[in-house]
Amino acid sequence: MINAAALNRLKTLLAPEDILLAPEDRACYAFDATGRNRVPDAVVFPRNTEAVSEIMRIADGHRIPVVPRGAGSGLSGGSVPQSGGLVMGMNRFDQILEIDADNLVAVVEPCVVTAELHKAVERLGLFYPPDPASMGHATIGGNIAENAGGMRAVKYGVTKEYVMGLEVALPNGDIVHAGSKCVKDVVGYNLTPLFIGSEGTLGIVTRAILKLLPLPEAKMTLMATFPTMGDAARTVSAVIRNRIIPATMEFLDRHAIGAVEAYLKMGLPTQAGALLLIEVDGEKDQLDRQIERVRAVCEENNVMDARIAREKAAQDELWKARRSVSASMVRLKPRRINEDISVPRSRIPEMIAQTEIISEKHGVLIVNFGHAGDGNIHVNLLFGDKPGDDERVRGAVKDVFEAAIGLGGRISGEHGIGLAKRDYIGWNLDAATLGMMRRVKRMFDPNNILNPGKIFP
Ligand SMILES: Cc1cc2nc3c(=O)[nH]c(=O)nc-3n(C[C@H](O)[C@H](O)[C@H](O)COP(=O)(O)OP(=O)(O)OC[C@H]3O[C@@H](n4cnc5c(N)ncnc54)[C@H](O)[C@@H]3O)c2cc1C
Repeated sequence: MINAAALNRLKTLLAPEDILLAPEDRACYAFDATGRNRVPDAVVFPRNTEAVSEIMRIADGHRIPVVPRGAGSGLSGGSVPQSGGLVMGMNRFDQILEIDADNLVAVVEPCVVTAELHKAVERLGLFYPPDPASMGHATIGGNIAENAGGMRAVKYGVTKEYVMGLEVALPNGDIVHAGSKCVKDVVGYNLTPLFIGSEGTLGIVTRAILKLLPLPEAKMTLMATFPTMGDAARTVSAVIRNRIIPATMEFLDRHAIGAVEAYLKMGLPTQAGALLLIEVDGEKDQLDRQIERVRAVCEENNVMDARIAREKAAQDELWKARRSVSASMVRLKPRRINEDISVPRSRIPEMIAQTEIISEKHGVLIVNFGHAGDGNIHVNLLFGDKPGDDERVRGAVKDVFEAAIGLGGRISGEHGIGLAKRDYIGWNLDAATLGMMRRVKRMFDPNNILNPGKIFP
């Protein structure tokens, strides 16, 4: 609960429209995309960094939990205010402050929507590669806090590769500036990476300096189907061995192919064991050679069918299969948990085989799709409302994590730990490493007011 003294100070600091207290307003900031929810005691919308800092001072002094929030699209419960207190909506920080084409840098506020930044820089022939599937509504602040990845990660990497500097308000109200617009900068400790992927537990990002690239001139897409996941995985490795790094290499397993075909009827072979979508980008005159080389590699690896799309309309048609996986699964079962484990990419076939065994053991339908190029698999556990369904799924999720770890993998590749996986973090991290992380948290936030209860069991 927020006490009267703290509430009075917040009301003095903020305009009436920048603080929500009515239950029906607060309820809109209770949840994220996991569906977990807890209604906060108040929602505040600071308009500048100084206001963020002052709110943190008030909250720290009165020991009030504060949960920063972007678009609330997170898939690990990160922006759910599970200890009550304040949700800090970053909505007023929605400006692209600068696009510096000479230095290939953008300076943005944290609530800029990722796809809006893409459009703004692409109009100038520039490129911001991180592309989480939620980019139409997720924000740069949320992407930084979760170190979000996307389909283009195989060639271009994830959010951490593009953050050059940050302005951050700390739990005690201090405002720190990490990094700069300079490509070379070794002035003091490199604090920027510490905040990336910290899930809003160390500080509140109020400004970010982002690296840009020149926009690739063109792209070409190939869709191929294979009898087995092993054939598809060997193709992925062989493409890379051939020194071709595609911008994306996505896969669907046999259940995902079946679900999409039942939904779209686009002529996918339902007897196929795997489908790959491979996109190459770069200079126009080199792409034909590259995509033909990729096709040849597919043919060397038992391909059933390969289609190439050179024009945008045809490319969109091929991408429909990948983009419709989530929608097509809704028809299979009423409920779904989407895990995002990550394994070395050569272990994908073993991981898929393990999910088949786990599916049978627990009687839970498992559909896999994801990023073949970087080993990040979306393991979707589909279930209903029958008695015992929840327990069966919980058992299956544990087995999925155990299998991934057994293959040298991680329990999360891009969604983060938050509330959803905090009880399992010790399966991936040893006690010394986890202890070090707890000490870092305590140093930044000795009163444990910033996003408490997240990440750590
Ligand atoms: C359909 C769908 C598809 C998705 N696809 C992908 C994908 O391909 N790749 C991927 O990585 N993720 C994906 N996600 C997950 C999610 O979209 C990302 O984690 C995204 O980065 C969250 O951004 P957001 O603005 O919604 O953040 P929120 O959900 O609001 O917050 C996420 C975390 O960031 C913290 N936070 C937010 N703003 C700040 C700030 N300014 N300072 C400090 N901390 C802050 C919050 O406290 C919370 O811990 C997907 C989600 C959905 C629903």
